Amino acid sequence: MLDDSLHAQFAAILPPAALLTSAEDTRPYECDGLTLFRERPAAVLLPENEAQVVAILKACFEARIPVVARGAGTSLSGGALPDARGVVLSLAKFRKILAIDPLTRTATVQPGVRNLAISEAAAVHGLFYAPDPSSQIACSIGGNVAENAGGVHCLKYGLTVHNVRRVRAVLITGETVEFGGDAQDSAGYDLLALINGSEGLLAVITEITVKLCAKPQQAQVALAAFADVEHAGAAVGAIIGAGIIPAGLEMMDQPATRAVEQFVHANYPLDAAAVLLVESDGTNEEVAAEMAEIKRVLAEAGATEIRVSKDDAQRELRISPDYYCIDGTIPRAALPRVLREIALWSKEFGLTCANVFHAGDGNLHPLILFDANKPGESEKTIEFGDRILRLCIEVGGTITGEHGVGVEKLSSMCVQFTSAELERFHAVKHAFDADELLNPGKAVPTLARCGEFGKKSAMRRGTS
Ligand SMILES: Cc1cc2nc3c(=O)[nH]c(=O)nc-3n(C[C@H](O)[C@H](O)[C@H](O)COP(=O)(O)OP(=O)(O)OC[C@H]3O[C@@H](n4cnc5c(N)ncnc54)[C@H](O)[C@@H]3O)c2cc1C
Repeated sequence: MLDDSLHAQFAAILPPAALLTSAEDTRPYECDGLTLFRERPAAVLLPENEAQVVAILKACFEARIPVVARGAGTSLSGGALPDARGVVLSLAKFRKILAIDPLTRTATVQPGVRNLAISEAAAVHGLFYAPDPSSQIACSIGGNVAENAGGVHCLKYGLTVHNVRRVRAVLITGETVEFGGDAQDSAGYDLLALINGSEGLLAVITEITVKLCAKPQQAQVALAAFADVEHAGAAVGAIIGAGIIPAGLEMMDQPATRAVEQFVHANYPLDAAAVLLVESDGTNEEVAAEMAEIKRVLAEAGATEIRVSKDDAQRELRISPDYYCIDGTIPRAALPRVLREIALWSKEFGLTCANVFHAGDGNLHPLILFDANKPGESEKTIEFGDRILRLCIEVGGTITGEHGVGVEKLSSMCVQFTSAELERFHAVKHAFDADELLNPGKAVPTLARCGEFGKKSAMRRGTS
């Protein structure tokens, strides 16, 4: 519940329809894409300009109440989960594309603009915005910056952080700041990189300038079938090792192809243990030469069948598998080992695990299938997922590839980072937000939580 004085302040800043407090109005904001965690905020605020954001943040700062910024709410890690003591600050009304400049190949947009809308607007100039999360039809560019989103084409074109030139944001105190600019580099610490992936903990983003790329003349996808997942995993390394940087390099194992074929009708070879989807883009000549090389490497790596898309419709069907659950990243060379261990654990736990992932980036998305109605299956699933993330760290990878930490992976952060490292993360947070009002309790665990988690894990492993 908002206290009367704060309610009056928000009512003076926003029109009545932009200040939601009833249970019915706030319920749609109680979770994001991770529906396992739910919390109703005291209020949802829907400003439509930066002056309103500044005034809201000043009021929240003075009252010391938490603020959770929200874009489209598609986060899969609970990043936009509300705090019951505070407000959700929705950027959904910040939907203007402010400028598209074909000369500098940049677009300046408000944070609530949908990812795909940028490419749609830039298309008249033969340009597009490259980072393409599978949620691009719905997710906002503000949320993409906050999560440093990735996608199929990030192997060749880079993650969000590599495609953002400038960010304007408001601090919890109400001051506005700008990071980055038109030049390639700027003086001082690289705070533009810091704001990318900061999960709403450092500032509320109000304007973004992104880089645009020239639309390639042509694109084709090769689909390669493999008799086992290890050979498919090794083929990923072989492609990169041959000096090819494909536009996309995705992998699906058999449970995944069997599950999605009936929906997408891409004619996947269902008897293959795994398929690789390798995309090439560029001029007609570049694609022809690169495709020939890709086919050669795939055949040498043991592909049992290779098909190349004949048109754009076939290419898009194959390159857009949308199945998600766990999100971890490993060095490409570790793919065969990690896939082998996941398959063994799948048998050990008696749980099917489908894998669809951005193989070129080493970004795994194992999808463990379970039945919560069967006693003990939820716990087994959590244990299985925890083992996969620990393995990611063990082979030199990380516990998140693109979905962020949010609330979902707080405990996994305790495994990946030492106390000294976590303390530095907290110090950065405090440099921006000393009272921990912006998205509190997300992304960086407290040392107390890690101590508790360490004890529980040791007990589970029988080492305490
Ligand atoms: C079907 C599906 C497929 C997906 N595929 C991918 C994928 O391929 N790659 C990928 O990276 N992700 C993927 N995601 C996850 C999600 O879409 C991304 O994390 C996306 O970037 C979130 O954007 P959003 O606008 O929905 O942000 P939200 O979910 O609203 O918020 C996410 C985080 O960003 C913060 N935030 C939002 N806006 C702002 C702002 N203006 N200022 C400061 N902080 C802000 C929030 O506080 C929160 O911490 C997928 C999700 C779904 C449901």
